[in-house]
Amino acid sequence: MEDKRELLKQPLHGIYIPILLILGGTLIFGVEYLPYSIAFIVIVGSSKIYQAWSRRSSLDKTVWRDFELIDKTIIGPMTSIYRFKLNREDEILDIPTGHHVACCFTIDGKDEVRYYSPISNQFDAGFFDILVKHYEKGKVTKRLAQLHEGQTVKFRGPFGKLNYESNVAKHLGLIAGGSGITPILQVITKIITTPEDNTKITLLFANETEKDILLKNEIDEIAKKYPDFEVHYTLTYPPKSDWNGETGYVSKEMITKYMPQVSLENRIYICGPPNMKISVRQQAEELGWEKENIFCF
Ligand SMILES: Cc1cc2nc3c(=O)[nH]c(=O)nc-3n(C[C@H](O)[C@H](O)[C@H](O)COP(=O)(O)OP(=O)(O)OC[C@H]3O[C@@H](n4cnc5c(N)ncnc54)[C@H](O)[C@@H]3O)c2cc1C
Repeated sequence: MEDKRELLKQPLHGIYIPILLILGGTLIFGVEYLPYSIAFIVIVGSSKIYQAWSRRSSLDKTVWRDFELIDKTIIGPMTSIYRFKLNREDEILDIPTGHHVACCFTIDGKDEVRYYSPISNQFDAGFFDILVKHYEKGKVTKRLAQLHEGQTVKFRGPFGKLNYESNVAKHLGLIAGGSGITPILQVITKIITTPEDNTKITLLFANETEKDILLKNEIDEIAKKYPDFEVHYTLTYPPKSDWNGETGYVSKEMITKYMPQVSLENRIYICGPPNMKISVRQQAEELGWEKENIFCF
């Protein structure tokens, strides 16, 4: 369905017909009024163009723009959510589902670019959030961790290959590893907030230890509220007691047990460290999944 809000961003929306009417009327009433009509058209046209310019998206694909950090929340060991301000309070970071933004820091004279998949949703106005897992020797994550509110960071985008459409699958299997949960969360949020999307979703979320599971409470809360969403966890190092999830890396057995049935009507999306993506894709293909029904972020 066409998004009518897009029309408002087009500077000449609602201007062609009034211009033709004014010019037609001028010709009927007398050509001597033409300079006044043209002056009127220029004023109204400029105001329309200004309105469209001021409503333009904060984010640009080709130009690095500065975004102010307005909040930082530590949510787990070495993991934080960073909130950046958009140009307008009513602006929503309108990026396609599962797409990411590029972030750039100039370190020792060299531009270091890294990618992050925003986790804020289509109703969050005025800001966007990225969830970042920090690495002890990570160049960019170290700089992000040192940021204070009020400082700015350069972003560009969006980028991405996923072309998600509602009801593209009857049952969607999602396999995430660690911070690979971020684009997967975008897909889940999109589906559960789109009433006409009836996709059943099953998430298999792999982590090293229980405390590494990012946003577990939020994910469990979604599973409680939405009967069409199910989540299962697997840990490389599970706790000695009180663990009813799976143990170890994602295996063929886990894929068979939790993922949708192999069918052209179903899909699997995978996101995690490169080795995990390669191994899980290979296992899914060996289980009979067609290449085109598997998407790796
Ligand atoms: C499309 C895309 C989307 C992404 N979205 C997110 C996101 O939403 N949140 C997020 O936290 N990250 C995300 N990443 C990863 C992110 O872009 C960076 O690679 C990460 O933040 C590390 O950057 P750095 O400069 O701190 O580390 P670097 O200086 O590049 O690496 C330093 C060391 O850190 C370790 N390291 C770095 N990355 C990883 C990794 N992924 N797994 C294991 N060890 C690693 C390695 O030991 C490495 O030698 C995404 C990556 C891609 C390609």
